[in-house]
Amino acid sequence: MSQMITVLGATGSIGVSTLDVIAGHPERFKVFALSGNRQFQRLAQQCITHRPRYAVVIDAQIADQLRALLEASNCLTQVLCGEQALIDIASDSEVDTVMAAIVGGAGLRSTLAAVQSGKKVLLANKEALVMAGALFMDAVAHSGTTLLPIDSEHNAIFQCLPQAYSNADRGGVSKLILSASGGPFRGWDLPQMTPVTPPQACAHPKWDMGAKISVDSATLMNKGLEIIEAQWLFKIPASQIDVVVHPQSVVHSMVQFVDGSVLAQLGNPDMRTPIAHALAWPERMSSGVGDLDFVALSRLDFEDPVIDNFPCLGLAYGVTEAGKDAAIVMNAANEVAVQAFLDLRIGFTQIADVVEYALNASCFNEPQSLADVEHTDKRARAMTSHRVTQLER
Ligand code: NAD
Ligand code: MG
Repeated sequence: MSQMITVLGATGSIGVSTLDVIAGHPERFKVFALSGNRQFQRLAQQCITHRPRYAVVIDAQIADQLRALLEASNCLTQVLCGEQALIDIASDSEVDTVMAAIVGGAGLRSTLAAVQSGKKVLLANKEALVMAGALFMDAVAHSGTTLLPIDSEHNAIFQCLPQAYSNADRGGVSKLILSASGGPFRGWDLPQMTPVTPPQACAHPKWDMGAKISVDSATLMNKGLEIIEAQWLFKIPASQIDVVVHPQSVVHSMVQFVDGSVLAQLGNPDMRTPIAHALAWPERMSSGVGDLDFVALSRLDFEDPVIDNFPCLGLAYGVTEAGKDAAIVMNAANEVAVQAFLDLRIGFTQIADVVEYALNASCFNEPQSLADVEHTDKRARAMTSHRVTQLER
């Protein structure tokens, strides 16, 4: 029996890699639905290749443009639009598996809908978990869904954890060690980073990713988000999560055990490996990624992150201590700040300033519901947008 799959965020970097892996295994997967946002030409091409039942975009005008392209190609994919349509394709009873690869808070509702309806959920959209961790993990427990991490670090840890690992018994795990590539500005200080441009920040030395996560990797906010992601996924306090900078991006993360053993997952830096791992789990299948050449690699380097030069990582550590809804504020402020940087409205080092401002200006409460999460998110975005406007003057 083949798996019916919905790919949320099909036109993005993870979405494209997912469809590439799926195309290599037509007997295992059937595409039920794809979603995109603005890149309707790419989405049309994906529909023509994969023949999903539905394609979803948010904007009605873009939906019309997509329909016209599909009709011209005699493609029978039905085009739907709006956020409810995203939720519908994530929770449809015919769907087995959902790849949650929308970027940012925009993916929260659809990702949560997939979890609540008990789908096998492949989680790339880390922001959803950072924002709504407790609700999200409660929904996982309640629906009995299988949640598989796509983020390379968390997928590596998932692969290294002992089978006995659970809430009550960590199976001898003493800590998790998250790898960080260090991004394009590893070794730089703040004055050197002050004038950097979006193309510089997006030119990641090892990974080819969407703009938002590329900037997050350059500020190390991505690692901050990943610490919080790991806390929720593996139910472990931040004090037992270390970060080590590893510029080759070959050791994707490690698990330290009480007896001194360390298990690591290695591979070429290509997201098709964690995607294929999660798609086939608990089996294995080919991903299109070549074997690691240890001799060509010859060495693996590790160093501590310099938090003084990457204040976003320090802010994230502060957020793990503050708890409550601090992570929602940090995530929202960061999304607004990164977009403002990409739009040339603020400088690179102002991203951390703006996030710090939003955190300092907020008092934190425990979110009780999705409405609480969305309320805090909205408030933090408004406050941050206002701050960006002040800085522009
Ligand atoms: P991307 O920018 O390349 O793609 C984002 C996707 O989300 C696109 O399909 C876009 O159409 C869709 N989207 C954007 N805004 C939307 C909105 N308002 N409503 C609905 N859809 C919208 O991003 P990406 O690099 O593929 O990353 C996707 C997610 O995966 C992010 O959460 C990122 O942190 C995570 N992730 C990515 C990588 C990677 O290598 N790219 C690695 C680990 C984790
Ligand atoms: Mg990662």
